[in-house]
Amino acid sequence: MPSAPPKHGHLWTFLRRAFALRCPECGLSPIFRPLREVKDLYDYFTPLDGCPHCGYAYEREDGYFLLSIWVLNYGIVSVVGLIAGTYIQSHYHPDVFSPMWLWLCPLPVLSMLLVRHSKSVFLAIDHYIDPHVKPTSNDAADHESSYHP
Ligand SMILES: [Zn+2]
Repeated sequence: MPSAPPKHGHLWTFLRRAFALRCPECGLSPIFRPLREVKDLYDYFTPLDGCPHCGYAYEREDGYFLLSIWVLNYGIVSVVGLIAGTYIQSHYHPDVFSPMWLWLCPLPVLSMLLVRHSKSVFLAIDHYIDPHVKPTSNDAADHESSYHP
C-alpha cells in the first residue's frame, strides 16, 4: 500500500523554493526585497515580514535567523576557507606573512553574498520540520478514519 505524501509538502520542494528566495509555503512571493529596491544593508539582509500571498510569517521571533547565519553561512564560508587554505599551503608552501594569503580576502564577500540564501534555506528546513500550518482537527479525523490495521 503506497504511503500518502505529507500534507504540508516535501523537503526538496521547500529547498527549491529557498534557492529561488521564494516563500517556502506557496513558492510565489519573494522572501527578500528585490535587489533593485534595496537602499541599504538592512534592506539587503532583512527578510520581509511575511508572504503577501499566503500570509506565511518569515521571521517567527527575534533571533530566529541566528542559527542560519552561524551554521549555514559561517559554516560554508569556513569550509571554503579551509579548503582554499589547505590548497595554498600544500601547493605553494607560503610562510605566515606571505601575500599569497590575500587570496583568502574575498571570503567575507562570499559570506555577504550567502546571507540571503542561508536564511531562506534555514526557513525551508524549519518549515519542513516544524510547519506553521498544523493539521486541522478535520485532517486528524480523516487520518484516523482511514487507518485500517
Ligand atoms: Zn507564501
